[in-house]
Amino acid sequence: TSGKVSVLDIKGLTKTYGAVTAVDNVDLHIDHGEILGLIGPNGSGKSTFFDCSTGLATPDSGSVSLEGSDITNWSLNRIAREGRMLRSFQKTVVFKKLDVEENLVIAGQMFTFPSVLSTFSVGKRSRMRIEGLRKHARELIELTGLGPVAHMAAGNLSGGQQKLIQFASMLMPDPRLIMLDEPMAGINPKLVERVIDTIRYANREMGVSFLIIEHNIDVVTSLCSRAIVLDQGRKLCEGTPAEVIANKQVREAYLGG
Ligand code: ADP
Ligand code: MG
Repeated sequence: TSGKVSVLDIKGLTKTYGAVTAVDNVDLHIDHGEILGLIGPNGSGKSTFFDCSTGLATPDSGSVSLEGSDITNWSLNRIAREGRMLRSFQKTVVFKKLDVEENLVIAGQMFTFPSVLSTFSVGKRSRMRIEGLRKHARELIELTGLGPVAHMAAGNLSGGQQKLIQFASMLMPDPRLIMLDEPMAGINPKLVERVIDTIRYANREMGVSFLIIEHNIDVVTSLCSRAIVLDQGRKLCEGTPAEVIANKQVREAYLGG
């Protein structure tokens, strides 16, 4: 390829659970600005691939490189706190008693920022930081269409709206890469469109790359420039969504043939 440094470059990732090889020698790279789909039947190793890439599980072998730095043995917390690569979980977690804006500000405080404010006194620094976070939170609240509910308690909002809060929270540190595990699962069709729009906006306007596990092939086709198919832990094929759908082995894997 171009020789540029990928956002994420994974080589030979392997993870076994007892007798099961959940992920089997998988290579995957994501270019800057790319939205990559990760698809495959249930049990094909998609979530395990995420877990091993983000420090939640330790791979048996293989390497994970984020913007050229080796993060293979970093913990989930260390990766998350740094704020360059973030992941969602299938279960949505929000601070239910806090309002939407407070949720985003708190999320922002959990990340370590480059210390442009380090020349100021501690009090002034933290005051400026909170103000900056609040401003950024408001922008992201508008972007995700949560403006009308910005001051409602998160726990009183719908599951789909809570997913948007979680997604907006992930944008707080201006990450380079977001990994989403089935972001559309269980949310109503109206909000699906909004999630798609938000992903697109974050990609185009904020330069965030994405790796998305998604079962809905229409969503993959509309969002992703490229897709990778896993089957029984192995990479079955990769290409544009159209190429992947047309692949005979992919059809067989999904039909259990
Ligand atoms: P997918 O997300 O594609 O549905 P998973 O990565 O969840 O697939 O699972 C891949 C395989 O690894 C499955 O056979 C699953 O049972 C097994 N597996 C995943 N996580 C664990 C775990 N923590 N302990 C034991 N087996 C696991
Ligand atoms: Mg899964």
